[in-house]
Amino acid sequence: MKKLSVFVLALLLLAGCANPAASGGSSTAAGPETTGAGSAIAASVAALENPPVIAQKDLAPREALAGCPLYVEAVEDLPEDFIFGMDASQVPALEASGVKYYDRDGTERDVFEILAANGVNYIRVRVWNDPFDAQGHGYGGGNCNVDTALEIGKRATACGMKLLVDFHYSDFWADPGKQMVPKAWKDYDLETKAAALEAYTHDVLMTLRNGGVDVGMVQVGNETNGALCGEKDWSDIVKLMAAGSRAVRDVFPQAKVAVHFANPERGNYLNYASTLKIFELDYDVFGSSYYPYWHGSLNNLTQTLEKIRKSYGKDVMVLETSYAWTAEDFDFSGNTISESSEKPYPYTQQGQVNSLRDVTQAVQKAGGIGVCYWEGTWIGVGGVSKEENQKLWEQYGSGWASSYAAEYDPEDAGKWYGGCAVDNQSFFDPQGRALDSLMAFNLIRFGNSEVALKAEEVEPAVLKITVGDPVVLPETVNVVMTDNSRQSVPVTWQADPAAMTEPGFYEIEGTASVSETEQMSAKLELTIEGVNLLQNPSFEESTEAPWVVTDLGSCKELKLEKKAGDSRTGEGHYHFWSPDSDSVCFTLEQTPEGLESGSYDFRIWIMGGDCGEAEVYAYAKLDGETVATAPMEITSWNEWHPGEISGIAYTAGQTLTLGIYVRTPAGGAWGKIDDASLSIR
Ligand code: CA
Repeated sequence: MKKLSVFVLALLLLAGCANPAASGGSSTAAGPETTGAGSAIAASVAALENPPVIAQKDLAPREALAGCPLYVEAVEDLPEDFIFGMDASQVPALEASGVKYYDRDGTERDVFEILAANGVNYIRVRVWNDPFDAQGHGYGGGNCNVDTALEIGKRATACGMKLLVDFHYSDFWADPGKQMVPKAWKDYDLETKAAALEAYTHDVLMTLRNGGVDVGMVQVGNETNGALCGEKDWSDIVKLMAAGSRAVRDVFPQAKVAVHFANPERGNYLNYASTLKIFELDYDVFGSSYYPYWHGSLNNLTQTLEKIRKSYGKDVMVLETSYAWTAEDFDFSGNTISESSEKPYPYTQQGQVNSLRDVTQAVQKAGGIGVCYWEGTWIGVGGVSKEENQKLWEQYGSGWASSYAAEYDPEDAGKWYGGCAVDNQSFFDPQGRALDSLMAFNLIRFGNSEVALKAEEVEPAVLKITVGDPVVLPETVNVVMTDNSRQSVPVTWQADPAAMTEPGFYEIEGTASVSETEQMSAKLELTIEGVNLLQNPSFEESTEAPWVVTDLGSCKELKLEKKAGDSRTGEGHYHFWSPDSDSVCFTLEQTPEGLESGSYDFRIWIMGGDCGEAEVYAYAKLDGETVATAPMEITSWNEWHPGEISGIAYTAGQTLTLGIYVRTPAGGAWGKIDDASLSIR
């Protein structure tokens, strides 16, 4: 009898814990709430013999966290109605490509139900005016237009979530780098464009209203850092925003009007807010993107948003954020974030949750109203090769861009079209099954700090010395704990320092003792630098000289480039890209003068992508004749690979030439070359 009453109590608790604000309510609480007390007892009597398997969808948020291995401290004082949003714009195109979504227990379910059950209360959708060419081929990125918004809106509304409509006012992606006017409006003057924008916004929102979609917020522009819909003067930009805002007020008077900017780290937000005030824009929410790897500190985010809230009386929130749970790529289309030794959180599910938790904390501290994730439902389309995926991306628009987008966006989509660059930042595994980290929203609201803290990852140790200096291996390494704190622990290395006398890059394996009983593998990245005898070795000068490039094919772009984000070190590197197959074939070399006789080591680095079966190698030539080569590989963005030639025997008076040879068969091949060195032993 005691057992029975405990079970009934559990059922009642289950029903009572269902928090509509946090979960979307209807689907999570349906089981217990619709079961009468009598039948519940009858069912529980039978259940005593056969304990029921409770499907995840029947669990209230707190219950669903039982047994969760992730350590999370709740964000205190989070408002009941705090927005936990998920951009799910790509979902219909992915489903058309064969993607299915599953709960953590493996049950196939509507992805919007899964999100609602995990504490998501807002769904965000991007809307492009006309992401199709004249033949009806979609540009990709989900081909998101009014029809997509209606489908997603209906499905979100059915699960008790509100819709955040994100107008780009473009036919394709709008961001700080591009704000292209829709094809149909390209010849409009400002007045005509504003009128068209207002009418279009009105039409889209009426379609959603007539479809019964619960629209809670509307963005009039996406990451509009100084441009919108082809306009660049602030008075013109705000005029367009105001036209959108009027349409929102008219169709959904209860909805909030949001503006959206990126790059809080650049210190422009107060200027933006002041400009919007000067031009008297009618809006409610000042929203920001915040990607931890690019957008400055969380303190800066909090301070900036808080100032805007207090000075201008606006709601503030983060409209886009995300974090990687793995460094892997699953769809043969490179990711924006890949392996890096400098990262604020480990690329694990715990790291992903910690990042979102800290962003939420930063917004809460600023008095903000919510955080929206971009876009945790976007996974690969599941093919076993790039070619197989490419067909789906082209047919259903399920990659970030299709080849058809080239007519509208030749410089970006036209060059780099492909699949998903954020499939390692999703909340679903490559097969569509929800990760434990999808519990993040409920974890942040309710906390799960009873689980013991443990070591999550050992940070790689980095040591750089000049040849001749003693090699002193570190005695400790940092362990990242599950709460993202660092602890210094003892380490032993499987290497003999006395054997490491030559200049070079050494990766040394080690064992960290993270507790009395537990050990984890550790890594030391040791660079022993010789005196570099090359000139302009890192391409930091204003020209590539004395490097000499020889184009043996017909490479479209072959040049010095200054872009720190694409360089291995510093600002500069040597860049190549070409759209056509078999067009990339070149050498890049230099011939240092005044060398003394001796044994020399040469090294050079490359990274790139879309190269197919590339032939790449470093080489050394003596008096014009190749005497040594070292094969190199090109994998994906930000994965640098060295080519190293050791022990080049040189006699004074000879001509020594060092270089790199690159030949790629694939169209669209690109790469970056950086950090060459030549040293004598
Ligand atoms: Ca990818």
